[in-house]
Amino acid sequence: MLYTNRIISFAPIAQLDRAPAYGAGCCWFDPSWAHINIVINRHILFMQEALKEAREAFSEDEVPVGAVIVYQGKIIARAHNQVERLKDPTAHAEMLAVTSAANFLKTKWLKGTSAYVTIEPCSMCAGALVLARVKELYFGAKDPKTGACGSITNIVKHKKLNHRLKVKSGILKQECSALLSEFFKKKRVRFPRP
Ligand code: ZN
Repeated sequence: MLYTNRIISFAPIAQLDRAPAYGAGCCWFDPSWAHINIVINRHILFMQEALKEAREAFSEDEVPVGAVIVYQGKIIARAHNQVERLKDPTAHAEMLAVTSAANFLKTKWLKGTSAYVTIEPCSMCAGALVLARVKELYFGAKDPKTGACGSITNIVKHKKLNHRLKVKSGILKQECSALLSEFFKKKRVRFPRP
């Protein structure tokens, strides 16, 4: 019962809305559901860490995007946007996290790693994830204006590139997009359009 309830509470992320049908039999504890539950919890936990980074960016008046890179179940790199602070248009959260992870692993390729990013990566960051051979990408909210992982184009799954990532979106997407909306709302109040 416990596991089934917890799965249902995360239904929007894993689209497990049929869980009650599966749990209606005599046995409530199904190891496969328990496994799915653990996997979902792990994705949420890592995305929450990426969100912490995004909030840090927000507090520094940077566009609030955060990223963490996970290897063998542990966070090995974390970063948030620092474009304004570094006066560097390439200082996106994902780029900084990829560099940091490569330094940590002392390797140019991040094989077997997973990237958790609050907002759909842009073409530059998606390209970096491909070049770094990151295995999986999990992102929160889609970015219809610059997102290059399915929105305006799809670099991480491009057939002509020699590496493709497994991608899943929508993890904590409300929280991820709300932070971004709040940031731009604040900007509009401060710098209203003529
Ligand atoms: Zn980017």
